[in-house]
Amino acid sequence: MTPAPRPLLPGATLGVLGGGQLGRMFVHAAQAMGYFTAVLDADPASPAGLVSHHHIQAGYEDAAGLAELARLSDAITTEFENVPAAALAALAAQRPVAPAASAVAVAQDRAQEKAHFVRCGVPCAPYAVIETAAQLAAVPADLLPGILKTARMGYDGKGQARVATAAELAAAWEAVDRVPCVLEKMLPLALECSVIVARGADGMVVHLPVQRNLHRDGILAVTEVYESNLPQTLAAQAVEAAVSIANGLQYVGVLCVEFFVLEDGRLVVNEIAPRPHNSGHYSQNACDVSQFELQVRTLAGLPLTQPRQHSAAVMLNLLGDLWFAHGAAARTPPWDQILALPGTHLHLYGKHDAKRGRKMGHLNITAPTAAAARATALQAAELLGLPAF
Ligand code: ATP
Ligand code: MG
Repeated sequence: MTPAPRPLLPGATLGVLGGGQLGRMFVHAAQAMGYFTAVLDADPASPAGLVSHHHIQAGYEDAAGLAELARLSDAITTEFENVPAAALAALAAQRPVAPAASAVAVAQDRAQEKAHFVRCGVPCAPYAVIETAAQLAAVPADLLPGILKTARMGYDGKGQARVATAAELAAAWEAVDRVPCVLEKMLPLALECSVIVARGADGMVVHLPVQRNLHRDGILAVTEVYESNLPQTLAAQAVEAAVSIANGLQYVGVLCVEFFVLEDGRLVVNEIAPRPHNSGHYSQNACDVSQFELQVRTLAGLPLTQPRQHSAAVMLNLLGDLWFAHGAAARTPPWDQILALPGTHLHLYGKHDAKRGRKMGHLNITAPTAAAARATALQAAELLGLPAF
């Protein structure tokens, strides 16, 4: 194959595997810069497929669909880490693909992911890999109480069980049909944070400011980003760790690194996502370059410049539950009242059916100060029926 000319300038077509909301916002960013887009997703109403120039309605393992994506696209990315590595590898034989299948494979598997953290010298939670009955029996007692996580396919807290005793651990492993898992020690968390880094093929790395995250029921609920959101030394440590994790993978693209801050102040890496991340959505309105523009730039081989946050920001996730806030009958949340508040930016993903726990959109709130952003976000939360934070 003749390599595609780099950089790919606007007018070229950028392809994305997966048609969810992350793909939709990638498509929006790519189109704003004058690129054409192609999305592969089996769902005819996928959020990204609905807004893309081309939508190939096929599954990730459909050879004809993948061939069509390669034919239409000058370079291809993914918005979903559970795409089969084989699909990425097949595409990579024909077109530039970023991130590489090898990096996505590490992020897909919690055991490989943790081994990578250890290689990079970034501390993670004490853990044991459980793939056999012998490994289950050999689990050190000091890993309990812990969280058993399936090694593959977990997201939004799915595939996880909290276990306090060896008997509960054994039962939880049975309950997931003895698939490969990791057991992580339950750590005393003071807070959670994450960092978005973007790395180009030339090794240039830029990052967004450190995001402070609040989860409810295992799902991200609130992200707050402003100067005082966490101690400066911790923020610097998180950025340094995220950059070394990206460099260690020879990563090309946008990578999110999630961290725990423990009650004793230590920083511990949790997991990585090989794509833009829910906790980086505030960058759409609070930074001069969003995480999706960074994804476009890395894929197209365009230069990376360090993004600058110009506003304090709070992001509220909008789950399907909001449509059922007043009992069983579905309602439309009061968007007009929300948008009457200063600095509110509504992002909805075009999903037709609101379901509890389903990510329907997010609300970014920007303001000149952290206090003002928080005050408006709390007003918006109240209007939406969300708990204060
Ligand atoms: P997502 O992909 O949506 O980020 P996930 O399903 O991959 O979620 P994790 O990030 O592993 O799940 O865990 C979800 C949440 O559970 C964490 O954000 C944290 O609040 C809690 N949690 C996970 N592991 C631990 C741990 N070892 N100790 C304490 N709390 C934990
Ligand atoms: Mg997580």
